[in-house]
Amino acid sequence: MPYRSGFISIIGRPNVGKSTLLNHILGQKISIISDKPQTTRNRILGVKHLPNAQMVFFDTPGIHKARTKLNQRMVQAALASLEEVDLVLFLIEPDLEPGEGDLFIAEHLGKIRTPKILVMNKIDLVKKERMIPLLDFFNKKGGFSEIIPISALHGENVDRLVEMALSFLPEGEPYFPEDVVTDQPVRFLAAEIIREKLIERTRDEVPYAIAVQIEEFKEDEAKNLSTIRAVLFVERESQKGILIGQGGKMLKEVGTAARQELETLLGAKIFLQLWVKTKKGWSKDDAFLSEMGY
Ligand code: GDP
Ligand code: MG
Repeated sequence: MPYRSGFISIIGRPNVGKSTLLNHILGQKISIISDKPQTTRNRILGVKHLPNAQMVFFDTPGIHKARTKLNQRMVQAALASLEEVDLVLFLIEPDLEPGEGDLFIAEHLGKIRTPKILVMNKIDLVKKERMIPLLDFFNKKGGFSEIIPISALHGENVDRLVEMALSFLPEGEPYFPEDVVTDQPVRFLAAEIIREKLIERTRDEVPYAIAVQIEEFKEDEAKNLSTIRAVLFVERESQKGILIGQGGKMLKEVGTAARQELETLLGAKIFLQLWVKTKKGWSKDDAFLSEMGY
């Protein structure tokens, strides 16, 4: 068998399960998961190593009609990436009718020549009959080489999807060394884990108003201890109050949950310090967005 390698973009409207799928394929969490849409902000790269292949996946931020500057930048980046890859996985979920978001993406997909697989996710949620109208609709739109139903959450059919995707990759050398699973620096993973814990515990506009900046990341190898200082930026004083919580309760909970996950990820003791700061309108500030890597 010749060695294969290539790039695969996972796209779909927010909340359809892209990050869940990538984490499942890799057997490791590199992308945050949340039931609140649009929480993946950067393009996340994940490398799947197989005996005779290397598959490089991109978990894109949800593609959607964007109004804010932050969202427009994310959508542009996601769309541009589709031309550069060997395969696109378009994720949808069982609805009775195609949503506005799916149509928006399908329209763009029609314009690119990259091979595409239509992936129906969350099949654990509904009976087969419910999926048929939607699959039918997108199938008629055409352009898909394959169609496959999966459950990213339960891993159903995911191996088959990986096998299927592999057949679209060209012969070639590996792009990454064997021990590389993501291109995201540990600093970024740490910031994302903290952000995930915050998102899980906040509601309404707050999850979208949070940016996490790692100010210090110091590793003491002798003691197997890492010290992490992170600043949580919010847009308004009222949001600051929510993040801190009554008597600092919320911040403490977030810190504990994030520390535990970071300790597992890094295999080290973690000393984690969190600060909350208000930065008015950060999500509209180009310079700040660039500084944060968005
Ligand atoms: P993304 O915005 O496309 O990256 O979506 P996420 O991966 O963050 O998932 C959004 C939500 O859908 C989370 O609550 C996931 O647990 C849930 N989810 C993802 N895949 C499945 C699935 O196969 N079945 C079910 N029932 N839920 C899923
Ligand atoms: Mg995501």
